[in-house]
Amino acid sequence: MTEQFIYQTEQFSDIKILRYQVPGFEDLSLQQKELIYYLSEAAHCGRDILFDQNNKYNLRIRRTLEAILLSYDGDRACDDFKNFEVYLKRIWFSNGIHHHYSMDKIMPEFSEEYFGELIANSNYELMPLNASEDEVSLIADLSGVIFDSEEQSKRVVLDPKMDLIVNSANNYYEGVSQKEVEDFYQKLDKGDVDRPISTGLNSKLVKENGVLVEKTWKIGGMYSEAIEEIVYWLEKALSVTDSELQHQALTKLIDFYTTGDLKTFDDYSILWVKDLDAHVDVMSGFIEVYGDALAIKASWESVVNFEDVEGTKRTKIISDNAQWFEDNSPVDSRFKKEVVKGVSAKVVTVAMLGGDCHPATPIGINLPNAEWIRKEHGSKSVTIDNITDAYHQASLKGGLLEEFSYSKEEIARSEAFGHLGGNLHTDLHECLGHGSGQLLPGVGMDALKNYHSTLEEARADLFALYYIMDEKLIEIGLIPSLEVGKAEYDGYIRNGLLTQLTRIELGKEIEESHMRNRQLIAKWVFEKGADDKVIERIEKDGKDYFVIRDYNKLRTLFGELLEEVQRIKSEGDFEAGKLLVENYAVKVDERIHKQVKERFEKLHLAAYAGFINPEYKPVYHEGIIVDVEIIYPMDFSQQMLQYSSKYSFLPHIN
Ligand code: ZN
Repeated sequence: MTEQFIYQTEQFSDIKILRYQVPGFEDLSLQQKELIYYLSEAAHCGRDILFDQNNKYNLRIRRTLEAILLSYDGDRACDDFKNFEVYLKRIWFSNGIHHHYSMDKIMPEFSEEYFGELIANSNYELMPLNASEDEVSLIADLSGVIFDSEEQSKRVVLDPKMDLIVNSANNYYEGVSQKEVEDFYQKLDKGDVDRPISTGLNSKLVKENGVLVEKTWKIGGMYSEAIEEIVYWLEKALSVTDSELQHQALTKLIDFYTTGDLKTFDDYSILWVKDLDAHVDVMSGFIEVYGDALAIKASWESVVNFEDVEGTKRTKIISDNAQWFEDNSPVDSRFKKEVVKGVSAKVVTVAMLGGDCHPATPIGINLPNAEWIRKEHGSKSVTIDNITDAYHQASLKGGLLEEFSYSKEEIARSEAFGHLGGNLHTDLHECLGHGSGQLLPGVGMDALKNYHSTLEEARADLFALYYIMDEKLIEIGLIPSLEVGKAEYDGYIRNGLLTQLTRIELGKEIEESHMRNRQLIAKWVFEKGADDKVIERIEKDGKDYFVIRDYNKLRTLFGELLEEVQRIKSEGDFEAGKLLVENYAVKVDERIHKQVKERFEKLHLAAYAGFINPEYKPVYHEGIIVDVEIIYPMDFSQQMLQYSSKYSFLPHIN
């Protein structure tokens, strides 16, 4: 018997902290364990880059708060100090002073005066003071940023009525307007028109003496101190790579970090996509652009993982049958792909999360982002099972399922099949859904404009929902029975009409595209199936429940909506797309919203989760690594302090 693994360690504010297991690590070869160790060290070294990208004052604030936590010589039992600790934990969690999801500035629940008292009674030598500064000027410098709700108020502003660059508090631009940024990148040479480089991806744009200048993130450039460390560990990894292509890819990646050349980054991405032999894999670089309102600048991230061979059998079955799924979908044949190209999809076990993937993390990744590389060379799509597993294990205890399910049968089905249903949904969504269908000639990718993301997610979700109740899945060995599909339907409707509303503030509408998509689908099928009572709304003891009465008819409705959404995309029917999104996806039923929030609050659950990483410890014999041990730490704050002391390479202000 193994000891029971503890998934959740603590909860504060709207966050719960979880741990994830790395099953299969012990069975890897020594070379692979060593590779994971080096890549993990590289994944830690970019942490400060992300803090600084998110806001110019982040590093200085974090270091000040850490100095207080380590040395404050006063009452640590009072509420003020407890609130101070929560504030610091939230900053660690969000990699800065803005909420990781809403992007709003986190307001401390203690006063400016108390902050002064904390600094005055802490060790000055630990404070991030620049030459000729004292603690008084430090307080003066940081107070506005921390306590004034108007200053640096939102990390990414998406309101089209405002200047998106001037009003966003991220550190990707300084002293420039949106217009100047747009003009600058419009004019910049992107090279080959069919294979454009991602200009601006790895630099900060600033105005110096009236001239716009890019400060490139590379060795010898901005963030050099951290990038040198990343490269140091990547070079170590070169001696223990898992395949010849991986060796070539990592060599290119080092070259990219050294020169900052974006053509080199594309060359690296192509090698990385082609490398399907390496068991251990890594993503590392300036990758996702969500943190920039204009989607030009990329945040730093890294994920180290290895293939989950058992799990990958599941995605292999799906991709082997990709053509069958395409041929049999309810979509009009004019909008179907005649030949579905090979999809490289696998299930992986995450070994280390870094940068923008930690502590909050995605559960599936599909890279690279450059469209032309995806078209010419394909992409890698991964589902991360050990992370979804941790989410699932931690959710079993919370009471959310019991609160929002109407029947015992629904609860039992979710406990038995919900996890498999959820994973299969992700596989079908990622490896087939997004890749399915085709545009009519002459229809552009951008025809649906601001409704594109929501409708694209809806298409992928509907594809998954349509097939998860198909006998074909039993035939090809993916599910034991259609109960898996029913569990997924229950969960999807419950989430789309009730539980996801816990993330929205009262009075606000739904903005995020995955959330919009879920409500769009759930509301549409609820309404269209009303006459046949496909889904019934039941009120009991003042609580609303949505109960599926006819799973087969529900499946037919998912199919009908898939057909319509695919038509909208294939024809580029902007008006129809707009109507669907505006009518079903955006507005929130106020009465239900309020009720859901109240029911959720009583459970004392957190709306967001993130992870403590494992630790890898090399075992040496006569100077040579003979084994690598894995340790699962329990304390989030300890890990954050350890990262800050071991992997802090950048100046306070960059
Ligand atoms: Zn998607």
